[in-house]
Amino acid sequence: MSHYPPVPGHEVVGKVVEAGSDVTKFRVGDVVGVGLVGCCRNCNPCNTDNEQYCNKKIWTYADVYTYGKPTQGGFSGAMVVDQK
Ligand SMILES: [Zn+2]
Repeated sequence: MSHYPPVPGHEVVGKVVEAGSDVTKFRVGDVVGVGLVGCCRNCNPCNTDNEQYCNKKIWTYADVYTYGKPTQGGFSGAMVVDQK
């Protein structure tokens, strides 16, 4: 995996506008911060709340999400993220 230099829009603050039925940590209207949009959930960093060191992490900006589209961080109008 290549390195990612600091860029505007990398860490995002927003408001929850919709939550899935399995979401327990947040409700609609909560203000949340997002630094990553994905990780493997199975490695040592993921299991010790250090997901930023996961080799399979997905940054909020300038990374490629599972669906093949680039993440746009704070420049996007909305984002879908896991409650973790
Ligand atoms: Zn991981």
